[in-house]
Amino acid sequence: MTLTLEDTLKWLHGFDATVTAQKAYLSELDTPIGDGDHGNNLARGAAAIEDALGKQEPADLTAALKTIAMALVSKVGGASGALYGTAFLEMAKASRETQEVADLLAAGLAGLQKRGGATTGEKTMIDVWAPVVAAAKAGNLTTQVIDDAVQATKPMKATKGRASYVGDNSIGHLDPGSVSSGYLFSEMLKAGVT
Ligand code: ADP
Ligand code: MG
Ligand code: MG
Repeated sequence: MTLTLEDTLKWLHGFDATVTAQKAYLSELDTPIGDGDHGNNLARGAAAIEDALGKQEPADLTAALKTIAMALVSKVGGASGALYGTAFLEMAKASRETQEVADLLAAGLAGLQKRGGATTGEKTMIDVWAPVVAAAKAGNLTTQVIDDAVQATKPMKATKGRASYVGDNSIGHLDPGSVSSGYLFSEMLKAGVT
């Protein structure tokens, strides 16, 4: 399926509302294995996205994705701002060539991996992005796929990002960036994008 400007705006409004509502929970997840700011970081990003999109309606899909990326990069402190920002920037670039959802998400994932140097199994948001891209390509992305990927981060030991500092103690906790990525893709499905 192809991604339209209208779907993208609906998708991001949904994501912004969810991360704002789940701000405390996301920061709580980041407390035992991080610095307890993931929800605060993303809620700031959500407000910045709403602000930027509200100021001026983007002319097209590429402009919308770029506006989202810039809001995230400039307003979100922490690893997640740079990572989500890079993912949306790469989607914006790719959208000049294709509007196919799976291809856009694959470009976002490639950007994340290049920026953060992580691969699957390291207890990062890559553990949600990678299976989501695979399912989107196969045409069978469902909320179950997303939820299973998020839950699968719990037994993992973190070897990238701040959670890697606590070593074995990262085992048994959900990865906060995977939970927020789960929200991102669930909201994408809710917006009717599959
Ligand atoms: P910070 O760790 O700087 O406080 P956040 O708390 O906002 O930033 O984000 C933490 C999340 O970022 C982690 O839960 C993880 O999913 C993601 N993350 C951290 N490092 C990487 C990386 N190298 N590659 C991919 N994702 C990462
Ligand atoms: Mg943090
Ligand atoms: Mg931080």
